[in-house]
This record gives sequence, C-alpha cells and structure tokens, in this order.
Amino acid sequence: MSATTIYRDATVFTGEAAVAPRECFAVRDGLVLAAGDLAAVRLAAGAHGADTPPEVIEVSLGGAVVTPGIVEGHAHMLMLGESLSKVQLRDAGSLTVVQERLAAARAAAPDAPRILGTSWMFDIFAEGERPTAAVIDAVISDVPVILDANDLHSVWVNTAALAAMGITRDTPDPVGGEIVRDENGDATGFLLETAAMSFAWGYLDSVRSEADQDRYLSAAFDAYLETGVTAATEMSFGEAELATYRRRLARDGRLPFPVTAHWLLTASGDVATDVAQIARIAAARDELAAEFGTQWLQIVGVKFILDGVIDACTATMRAPYANGALPGPIWEREFALPVAVAADAAGLRLALHAIGDEASTIALDMVQECIRVNGARTDRRPRVEHLEYVADDTIARMAALGVTASMQPVHCDPAVLDNWQAVLGDERAHTGFPWHKFRNAGVLLALGTDAPTAPHFAPDNLFIALTAESALDRSRAPYQPERVFTPAQALEALTLGAATATGREQEFGRIATGARANVAVWAANPLAGAPEALLGSGAALTLVDGEVAHRRQA
Ligand SMILES: [Zn+2]
Repeated sequence: MSATTIYRDATVFTGEAAVAPRECFAVRDGLVLAAGDLAAVRLAAGAHGADTPPEVIEVSLGGAVVTPGIVEGHAHMLMLGESLSKVQLRDAGSLTVVQERLAAARAAAPDAPRILGTSWMFDIFAEGERPTAAVIDAVISDVPVILDANDLHSVWVNTAALAAMGITRDTPDPVGGEIVRDENGDATGFLLETAAMSFAWGYLDSVRSEADQDRYLSAAFDAYLETGVTAATEMSFGEAELATYRRRLARDGRLPFPVTAHWLLTASGDVATDVAQIARIAAARDELAAEFGTQWLQIVGVKFILDGVIDACTATMRAPYANGALPGPIWEREFALPVAVAADAAGLRLALHAIGDEASTIALDMVQECIRVNGARTDRRPRVEHLEYVADDTIARMAALGVTASMQPVHCDPAVLDNWQAVLGDERAHTGFPWHKFRNAGVLLALGTDAPTAPHFAPDNLFIALTAESALDRSRAPYQPERVFTPAQALEALTLGAATATGREQEFGRIATGARANVAVWAANPLAGAPEALLGSGAALTLVDGEVAHRRQA
C-alpha cells in the first residue's frame, strides 16, 4: 500500500461555494483520497481509531485555509516570464520617470542588444498626446527600445526599433492595426493592435533565443507557484510556445503544473488562409497528445481577438467613444463565422476576446453559428474573454448558450480606470465589469489576471474581487462595489469555475476524491479575514499532484 498523507487542522474550501468547508483532506498517489472530518478521512486512509498504520502520515496545517490551487483563467506564460525581466513602467507616473528608468536600465546593461519595457500607462501622456520615438531617443538612441503598453495592445518604440523592424514610410498598415504616422507620413513610434503584434512581437520573436524562451517559461511557473496557482490557461499559444513547451516536456517529462492552451489565430483578411490555420492547430494538438499525453499540456481550442481595448478606443462598441470614434472589429463576421465553424468542427473550443459590447455580440453570433452548422454539443464550452463593457441582452444570451465569462478583477483596479472611464465619457463609465449581473444570470465565471497585462498575484486579484477596491493605490475609492463577490463565490470562480471553463474540472480545480492533489495553503485567510491581509501575500505551501511545488521561506 502506498503512503497516504492526511492534512489536518485546516479549513478546506473544496472549490464549490455551496459546500461547507471541510476540516482535512488526504492525499495518496498524487490524488485526493478524501476530504471531510478527521474521523472520516482517517477511515478512508485505512486508519481505525488510535490504530494508525505506519504508511499514514498526518500533517497539521495549524488552522490555515486551504483551497484547490488557483486555476489562472487567462495567462500568457512566456510573455509573463519575459515581462518579469523587463523595465517595469506601471507605476512610472510621468514621461520623465520613464526616461530615468530607461537610462538606468541602459547604464546597468551597456552591452544589451536591446532594452525592453512593460506596462506603461496611457495617463502619463497629456490629453491629446501620444507616445513618440523622440521621447525615448532622448535617452536611448543606439539600440532598439520596445515598450509594451499596460494592456499589451500597443507598443511604444524608439527610432532604432523602427529601423530594426524594417518600418519605413512605405510600410502599409496591417489588417486590424495601425502604424501611427505624422503629417509627413513618417512613423512616430506608436504601433497599435496587429501592428504591435506583427512588427514588434514579430521582431522580438526573430531575435529571441531558445534559451531566453526556456528561461521565461521557468520564471512564469515559479512566479505563479508562489502565488498559489497550480494550473494555467494559455491564451496566446503559437509555434514559439509549442516549441518551448515541447523542449520542457522532452527534458522533464512533465511541467510544474498543468497548462491548457488556446492557439491564437491571426486575421489574414482571407477566409481560406484563416481556415487553413485550423488544420495546423488540430494537427499540433494531436501530435502533442500522442507524444506527451494530455496530463500536462493540452491544446483545447483557439483564440480570436475580436477587438482591441477601451483605453486605446479600439474596443468595438455599439455606440461611439467620447471622441466620436466607432472602430470596427478585428474580425468582421464574414471572416469570423467560417473560421469559428471550422475550428468547432475540428473539436477546438472557442475563446473570444471581446471587450466592447459590439464585439461580444459578434462573439455570441459565432457561437450560435457553430451550433447551427455543427449541431448542439455539451463539450463545446465556448468562452468570452474580458467583457469589460457588455450589454444586458448579451449576458442573457450567454446564459442561454452556456458561454463562460472569463474576467480579470485586476483589469478594473480603480487605479487603472481613469483613462478607461474618460474615453467612454458617459454612463458606460460607471457600468463596466458587471460581475454581479453574470452571477445573477447564472453564467459560469472564470477569473484570472491576464498576466502580464496586469499583475499576476492571485491574492491581490482576489482582493479586488472581494472589495472592488484598488490593490495598487489604497487611497482610491472602490469602483461600483455592488459588483463584489463573496469569498466563496470568488474562490469558486478562481478554482472550479476556471477549471470547468477548460473542460478539466474532474482533473483539477476541486479538493474532492479522485482529483489531482493540486492545492494552495494560504498565508492569509481568504475566507474570513480582512481582505487587506491578502495584499502582497501568497501561498504558504503549494502542492501539485500531492508534491510540494512551493513552500514559503520563513
Ligand atoms: Zn490576454
């Protein structure tokens, strides 16, 4: 008989908000053997009264709260790992501070072939001003500098980077993107949406080494394990990710925790080209499963980015922004519908980035078209990502169609909403991120952080879900606090909800007999303590398949 460990003296949240917490759980062979009161769990482990067999070990957790490990509902693992090594600009606050930090990074790494930065905020620019290469050139002009916006939907670059990317005045804008230009037609150093992806990310893809990628992936796993995450949903999977994960699987035969991936589609503007991507993705899914099994990495679907973001006025809305802009979607229906149907027919699930209310309408039209053409299925599990501003009729439709709402509390931290509210400029500014409406409608909620577009710390994300307050600036008023979750509701959406969205809820996301023993023991009390105690806290202990994957240093 193999060894059994009973974790006792705890408050065990099972993943289901409706189930009262248990007092202990037992792990055998990497799986949860039982959860319940101590007597029942001892019985399940083969112990009778004081007669405990030697292969049963009891570990006291000293009254800590235990939950299923957090299932990160929306992540970009390699980008997170890379961003952890970039110049951090989220709290820079002004152009001068950005320049100082870039100059310091250059001075610290005089031989670096390029300088990368992340998470600059739109509100560092005066009203009507936009990022320009000149601001960066003033401090670094000899090597490329590439700075991701906070939301990862645009990049700000210097003149050396424009040259390295091959952007000239004759370079056309890609479909769904813009190379911002001055009155002479010259690029100014600001790339939006697919222009950011194809030029900046494409350039970085071409210069990144395999060793860089391997390091980034490891850094992301480590960072997540510290914060109690034991599964992640990859939302921009592609060839580079596939190669990196394959190297890791070939080296170790496993990953630090299971990952579920959606392959990011690119809109080419040609239906046949777009549909051809589907066959490649289905083949990659099948090859990966044949070679490594599905325990650690599963490609389960595709990701469409239907629109941009509200901050840059690129999210597709039903009514114009305050400045009168009303941009169309990145995927028009005539392209989106046939590609969605092809993906669905290949058994690939849809994850649909839709931030504006018109984009989420298109998203549901895509789901409905899949049902119409391919028939009803119970394992379809479509999901819409972000849903920052969403119409009530869309929420009702999501409930009727069984569509998951994948949302990120960190995206409505009040400290990052000033520009978001200003560009909407009307009552929409006060009715965003309506978690309560999704709950009331019975829509499945999967919470995540979308790291690195926002901080990856699960306890801080939970804090915002519980309070609608800012984790970044405690002086801020809460944003629409009627939206908040109870602790049990939020923890369910962070664990079982996010697991159910991936289709892997039997495997993880719950502390129940037969599930993988992927568990977080919390340093602060997420169920009953003051929410402030969560800020900056983490997991005291993280288990993956019953093994210690992280233990906080005393
Ligand atoms: Zn994302």
